[in-house]
Amino acid sequence: MTVSLKLYNTLTRQVEEFKPLNPPHVGMYTCGPTVHDFAHIGNLRTFIFEDLLQKVLEAEGYKVVRVMNLTDIEDKIIKKAKEKGVSLEEFTTPYELAFFEDLRKLNIKYADIYPKATEHIGGMVKYIEVLVKKGLAYVAEDGSVYFDISKFPEYGKLSQLDKREVKAGARVKADEYSKEDVQDFALWKSVDPGEVGYDSPWGRGRPGWHIECSVMSQQYLGETFDIHGGAVDLIFPHHENEIAQSEGKTGKQFSMFFVEGEHLLVNGQKMAKSLKNYFTLRDIEAKGFEPLALRYLALTAHYRDKLNFTWKSLQAAQNALNNLREEVRDWDQSKIGCAEYERRFFNAVDNDLNVPQALAILWELVKSDYPTSAKAESLLKFDKILGLKLDEYLGKPLEVPEEVQKLVDQREKVRKNKDFQKSDELRDEIKKMGYEMEDTPTGPKVKKVL
Ligand SMILES: [Zn+2]
Repeated sequence: MTVSLKLYNTLTRQVEEFKPLNPPHVGMYTCGPTVHDFAHIGNLRTFIFEDLLQKVLEAEGYKVVRVMNLTDIEDKIIKKAKEKGVSLEEFTTPYELAFFEDLRKLNIKYADIYPKATEHIGGMVKYIEVLVKKGLAYVAEDGSVYFDISKFPEYGKLSQLDKREVKAGARVKADEYSKEDVQDFALWKSVDPGEVGYDSPWGRGRPGWHIECSVMSQQYLGETFDIHGGAVDLIFPHHENEIAQSEGKTGKQFSMFFVEGEHLLVNGQKMAKSLKNYFTLRDIEAKGFEPLALRYLALTAHYRDKLNFTWKSLQAAQNALNNLREEVRDWDQSKIGCAEYERRFFNAVDNDLNVPQALAILWELVKSDYPTSAKAESLLKFDKILGLKLDEYLGKPLEVPEEVQKLVDQREKVRKNKDFQKSDELRDEIKKMGYEMEDTPTGPKVKKVL
């Protein structure tokens, strides 16, 4: 395979050639879930994009070490756990398990390390101490510690903030805030007696959200690593703050690449619980769709384009996935693939992950006149990246239940006798059982439908 991956880098706003610091190793950090709820399909789209990136890197021969944090302490978690009257751990554990279950169902490869914020408090305190000592952070009267953005002249370089927007001296303690609030942000938040907190040189408190990612990424990947990923809404303030903390501390570049995936919209709108357009994988499964249909849908849009989710688009993705499986059921496999298609496929994914184009090339291959054995070899290579689990279908004819097969045989008989009304009735009955018939020159072909 040629190593020629090009990736868009938010730091430079350009598509650049990707070259790791220590080939063949690639250090990759992606911001993980805040485990206060089930992941919504927008989060899942981001996780699928990051998985595609990892799989493309691995297809190029790189050895990826991937770290993804689990935010198990932050404002919302503390509030919700308190409302429920349970400990943080009791509150977050079910959502943490659900997160891993979602990844498994979407065929997303697990990261190598999932550090938890609550298990790295000591490291965060030490890190903040260095920032205070360097004069980049200050202790407020209530014992909270803030990062002084005026002491880091490069603040805003990732999100390309206009410096005039920066409010000197203003500060924010909340974990999440809007783009309008360009202020000193909390590294350590003092807490009232009785609230969840840890001892520190500044009194009882807890870490802010942003410091987590600087500490845990650098602990496992070093002071400078190759790729930092996440969703676009993390560019500001989260990733910007991570850069300020990390580069302020080390004086070295934090991550060589920042790669952020675009949002998912539902019916053209931003997802929100208040709009009742907020869905999780559970909602999708409850409607009878497979999780892999969501993965397929995610493949149809470039990661830097918004993806519009509708139930109709999900149905189209499920149908396309079903059709693809049916295409490959009677294929056998050889050692020789279709070189031309492979070249085009890998050119597409290497070009800033042009996965929608790669998916179109896969379909071209499927419909081409090459021997199925050669197509099979290439298809499986493609699916190592796309992750649609086609190996479970390739060369494995559909097992049609006996009662369905009986109806199919019966229909063949009445059709031959030109009893078309009865034939149509039987076709409807078969459909109700979840199967569809296609009349081919070699006889009826049965397909599974959703
Ligand atoms: Zn993060």
